[in-house]
Amino acid sequence: MKLKKITVTGGAGYIGSLATRALLDRGYEVQVIDNLSRGHQWAVDKRAAFSKCDLLDRALLSKSLKSFQPEAVIHFAALIQVNESVNQPELYLRNNFEGSRNLLECMKENSISKIVFSSTAAVYGTPESIPIEEGEPLAPVNPYGESKAKTEQLLQHYCQNHQFAGTAFRYFNVAGAHPDGTLGEAHEPETHLIPKILEAARRGEPVKVFGNNYPTPDGTCVRDYVHVMDLVDAHLLALEHQISRKFEAFNLGSERGFSVLEVIRATEKVVGQKIAIEMNERRAGDPPVLIAQSTKATRILGWVRKYPDLSTMIEHALQWHRSCFKTRA
Ligand code: UDP
Repeated sequence: MKLKKITVTGGAGYIGSLATRALLDRGYEVQVIDNLSRGHQWAVDKRAAFSKCDLLDRALLSKSLKSFQPEAVIHFAALIQVNESVNQPELYLRNNFEGSRNLLECMKENSISKIVFSSTAAVYGTPESIPIEEGEPLAPVNPYGESKAKTEQLLQHYCQNHQFAGTAFRYFNVAGAHPDGTLGEAHEPETHLIPKILEAARRGEPVKVFGNNYPTPDGTCVRDYVHVMDLVDAHLLALEHQISRKFEAFNLGSERGFSVLEVIRATEKVVGQKIAIEMNERRAGDPPVLIAQSTKATRILGWVRKYPDLSTMIEHALQWHRSCFKTRA
């Protein structure tokens, strides 16, 4: 049976706002739950019901779910900065893990048992083998990854003990924006590589490269970039996928690695200008190489990437970056 009502936590954030739009466009009724600590009111789709609520506020959270009565929850809300998590581990465990625990408890209270959870490649830490398969042990090397790994484990218990159907998507490096250039990434502060390069290009300043002595071909970290719209598609497929009483984790990546320097070169081609580089120390908590194997999502969910090329992700990010800068400068 097709689901109709979906609650999206973190619907004021980058991926959550695009997922909300996609759900609404496909005829779902959507409730957004967000505390607006990092997301933006302007990013919340006007067609969605909005509840300003912190996942740590258990009473309000339960009340919000009760009032909307969704059939499933897509859980994006989280703090996502590796560096910040290294400096404030307790903040990450409280916000990401305890917030998720509250959400699961409140879902159980309200008889909602289907959840799609935003996990991360950071759960693998520094993986033994590349590309990374879902069966790799979870061994996070920073508190951000730890908060997500712990949530996955708790979700697994909910699937075993409380008949939850849980999908965890382990995102690799999410990039790009809506292809029409009207919605995308606006983190404050921005720390992600592609928007940082675009910002440097716009300002005519050098982009900081964190570490050039990693065991990689050019010494800079290698990451697997996946288009945000492809990521959103996977969530829609997971909602339609009839799994019950089951936990399933999937990698979502493009199965190709690009070093920081390669991403800078690719951005230079898209923006048509040279971008200067400033070499910096390594950033704490960064594993050298993360590349996904994502065949499981294709095999089980029928996930097909529409935008696998890095240059398309950069082009879409650039369109958004320009429109965002024009409107909010
Ligand atoms: N990075 C960089 N300069 C920046 C931002 C990021 O060199 O201004 C590097 C970062 O150290 C990592 C890679 O780019 O090796 C991707 O970082 P990002 O924050 O985009 O995503 P993460 O891999 O941490 O999820």
